[in-house]
Amino acid sequence: MARIVMKFGGTSVADLDRIKNVARHVKREVDAGHEVAVVVSAMSGKTNELVGWVQNIPKVAGANHSIYDAREYDAVVASGEQVTSGLLAIALQAMGINARSWQGWQIPIRTDNAHGAARILDIDGGEMVRRMKEGQVAVVAGFQGLGPDNRVSTLGRGGSDTSAVAIAAAVKADRCDIYTDVDGVYTTDPRIEPKARRLKKIAFEEMLEMASLGAKVLQVRSVELAMVFKVRTFVRSSFEDPDAPGMGDLLNPPGTLICDEEEIVEQEVVTGIAYAKDEAQISLRRLDDRPGVSAAIFGPLAESHINVDMIVQNISEDGSKTDMTFTVPSGDAEKALRVLGENKEKIGYDVVQSESGLVKVSVIGIGMRSHAGVAATAFRALAEKGINIKAITTSEIKISILIDGPYAELAVRTLHSCYGLDKS
Ligand code: ADP
Ligand code: ASP
Ligand code: MG
Repeated sequence: MARIVMKFGGTSVADLDRIKNVARHVKREVDAGHEVAVVVSAMSGKTNELVGWVQNIPKVAGANHSIYDAREYDAVVASGEQVTSGLLAIALQAMGINARSWQGWQIPIRTDNAHGAARILDIDGGEMVRRMKEGQVAVVAGFQGLGPDNRVSTLGRGGSDTSAVAIAAAVKADRCDIYTDVDGVYTTDPRIEPKARRLKKIAFEEMLEMASLGAKVLQVRSVELAMVFKVRTFVRSSFEDPDAPGMGDLLNPPGTLICDEEEIVEQEVVTGIAYAKDEAQISLRRLDDRPGVSAAIFGPLAESHINVDMIVQNISEDGSKTDMTFTVPSGDAEKALRVLGENKEKIGYDVVQSESGLVKVSVIGIGMRSHAGVAATAFRALAEKGINIKAITTSEIKISILIDGPYAELAVRTLHSCYGLDKS
């Protein structure tokens, strides 16, 4: 007998038939004698709809901007998960399973005060465990918690993954299964490259990079928690027949295991390719080349919670002036330009230029640590396809390349094939 946390994403609970199908997956584990807690997302598209409403209400109400109170944003967007938790509990009860829904505040899942992008601080798993031991299935609304102000908070987009892993850590589950619309983590997004291969295992560090560089199959924070709390996390499909052979396998369920790198026997040099759309590049021209100039630029941006990514600096020939180029998410570009404008004198630049609609493609693999020439292979392959590189950043286990938006899919496929990742 084991204790299992099962998480079902938006497409897995998209309508009543899909919810019934999820109930069958849960029933399989309950019938096998396991203690089960379930975490659900909102029905597919629901959170987008709720976010859209929140963004538009100030304008409808007469404001000429869309600034809104993040606490009320959370009150609205957390409701999607409340609906699915209740519906799944009813579907389970209809199958004769003892189930009860739980909202974040009822457990409670305590978070910090960063409404809209809150971090989980603590989960009191006591009552859930007591009930699981009595054979009751806890159906928890993902994505939400309770802030220090006693108000509902949400964990940022894709946050139900994090709810699931955090609950698995809190109740000391043997396994956390993230059910989604693909049957595992692939070498790249299978929607972009049909030749992508499913990985049997992927190391925590690689999954962290994949997720933070755009592969939205898992929220970054969920991978961090799985790594820190050693939660055995699988990504698997809810679309397979719940009762197909092997689906209930305790040690090796079908899907991808996120694990320590030591568990991976045949480590490839490159494990996967990720991409992030909607990047914007901002360049400050003819800055004085003096100590403190970077602090003067990036300090105010950080204070405005703008996430700066790739940074490139060019020194002019005479060494007195410099250009600084960096990327931010397109959605933050306007705000960044405003902040830079407000600080123009303090920073001391001549002109600012910006370009939106760029894409960052990244090559990820732990094997890069011990192999030379990985970056050169990427540059050569992209050049052969006539794809221009706008910026490059590297770390021990990843190379990120900024390119023009329309080349995104070609670049992903080119990199995927140049490292031999295509399935044969
Ligand atoms: P859910 O609603 O279940 O949380 P998401 O849409 O958040 O599902 O994540 C699943 C999607 O992630 C897949 O449909 C797939 O298109 C995308 N994805 C991106 N990169 C990868 C990858 N490397 N492996 C698998 N899926 C990926
Ligand atoms: N429903 C939330 C979202 O769409 C959380 C999640 O699906 O993980 O972002
Ligand atoms: Mg998701």
